[in-house]
Amino acid sequence: MSQKKIVVIGAGPGGYPAAFRAADLGMDVTLIDPAAKPGGVCLYVGCIPSKALLHAANTISEASHAHEYGVQFSDPKIDLEKLRNWKDGVVGKLTGGLGMLMKQRKVKFVQGVASFSSPNQLVVQLQEGGEQIVDFDHAIIATGSSPVLPPIVEGETSLVMNSTSALEIPDVPKNLLVVGGGYIGLELGTVYASLGSKVTVVEMTAGILPGADRDLVDILKSDLDIRFEQILLNTKVEKIVQKSNKLRVTLSDLEKVNSNMTFDKALIAVGRRPMSKNLGLENTSIVTDEKGFIIIDKQCRTNESHIFAIGDVAGEPMLAHKATKEAHVAVEVIAGHPESFDPLAIPAVVFTEPELAWTGLSEIEARQKNWEIKVTKFPWAASGRATTMGIKKGLTKIISEPSTNRILGAGIVGNGAGEMIAEATLAIEMGTRLEDLKSIIHAHPTLSETFMESAELFYNTSPHFYSPKKNK
Ligand code: FAD
Ligand code: NAD
Repeated sequence: MSQKKIVVIGAGPGGYPAAFRAADLGMDVTLIDPAAKPGGVCLYVGCIPSKALLHAANTISEASHAHEYGVQFSDPKIDLEKLRNWKDGVVGKLTGGLGMLMKQRKVKFVQGVASFSSPNQLVVQLQEGGEQIVDFDHAIIATGSSPVLPPIVEGETSLVMNSTSALEIPDVPKNLLVVGGGYIGLELGTVYASLGSKVTVVEMTAGILPGADRDLVDILKSDLDIRFEQILLNTKVEKIVQKSNKLRVTLSDLEKVNSNMTFDKALIAVGRRPMSKNLGLENTSIVTDEKGFIIIDKQCRTNESHIFAIGDVAGEPMLAHKATKEAHVAVEVIAGHPESFDPLAIPAVVFTEPELAWTGLSEIEARQKNWEIKVTKFPWAASGRATTMGIKKGLTKIISEPSTNRILGAGIVGNGAGEMIAEATLAIEMGTRLEDLKSIIHAHPTLSETFMESAELFYNTSPHFYSPKKNK
């Protein structure tokens, strides 16, 4: 039997796992991407460099609190070039590793930009010049997303950054405007604030991280209010214009009252849009929605039954791990195995200080849908481990189904929330009930105990809470 010819367009955390899995299943695989090695947005200009910089930010802030327990560090000296090189080194190590793994799997790599000339053929504009035609039995579109650039910048300026240029940390501006209080604004705002910038976040909705659980966000915001110069809510940036070597920024509030502020630099982080344009989709019957996301079914199939789409280009949430899961679904389906993308929980982590994470059903969503839920919240003030770490604020919250006590969702704010949310995701996917969780032994003293104790609160059996109504 001849090998199935698979082409994967885009080598991010959707595309490269798809290519690797297809090769492992014995398919003839071609992977196309403009970069020299696999990695995509996530490895080159997204998850990995931002988390490397956030690691440095955490170290600075950890050191700044150490005096509380008798350890005094002097003010940090930042060697920007070394920090940049270290971050680039992390990226180089990981993308280099992927390049080797790709060679070992004998995936054919074409460096260039692909577009469909028909439902069975791609034309690739090669990075080195010229074109290459690629025919296929199955294609997987994994072209990701790019930053939204609202038309608010007037004229030419090099003082306005997007996430990609901000990750280069060309300098540490004295005053930095961050437009958008979402994932990127808060994460990169945290990096710049820890390096010494006075950061002003402007968010057009009534709260940062719109859509996230307010119990969690309120705790994060109380810390960010200290870390940042200010957070302006219900405020829109109308215009940014460079005047000599500063940015003059016009803001408007809910009442459309304008005000002006001056900044040294600005970072625009108001969302991302799917990379579905210029792909030649008009030469296929593939359909996109009004936002440009490619429409797929639960098997990640597009309207062309032999073409699949995964990752950011195929819909929210635009997260690397969602792209990777879809990659596996698409390839298994191509291989003829029964698979579908049907998760009960997709974890989300905002890598701020403290971290904020959630998974499964949120309280907001349940209330909007009028679903009956039970909510238990364990404050970290009652956690031994949090106290030993000097953590004063944090919360672990569980959303459960009253009729069965099944865990449907969880949210955590506090150090290490991004690691801890994995247990909650496992619990949801495995159909765990509160009584199971409360009786599973968790190591002491760990922050993970807060998840168990949140379940214990439900039964009034938490040793760290006294309630007169305690169960006998
Ligand atoms: P991408 O990673 O965007 O990769 C798509 C690839 O396709 C790119 O290399 C692109 O150049 C290529 N491509 C596009 N068009 C073509 C074409 N026509 N031909 C060939 N190649 C093409 N997510 C998390 O889960 N955790 C995080 O911590 C996190 N942090 C982030 C931080 C930042 C600053 C940013 C910007 C994003 C972050 N994300 C994070 C989101 C995450 O990066 C994306 O969800 C993820 O990269 C999507 O993977 P993907 O494979 O769909 O696409
Ligand atoms: P986002 O959607 O997370 O946040 C954008 C914010 O900008 C929103 O709060 C929105 O209300 C606000 N906004 C929009 N227009 C505005 C305006 N004119 N003025 C002021 N505020 C405005 O988008 P993002 O931060 O650009 O990140 C894009 C996506 O990348 C995220 O949604 C996420 O999927 C992914 N990402 C994930 C992580 C992570 O997993 N840790 C980190 C970074 C990015």
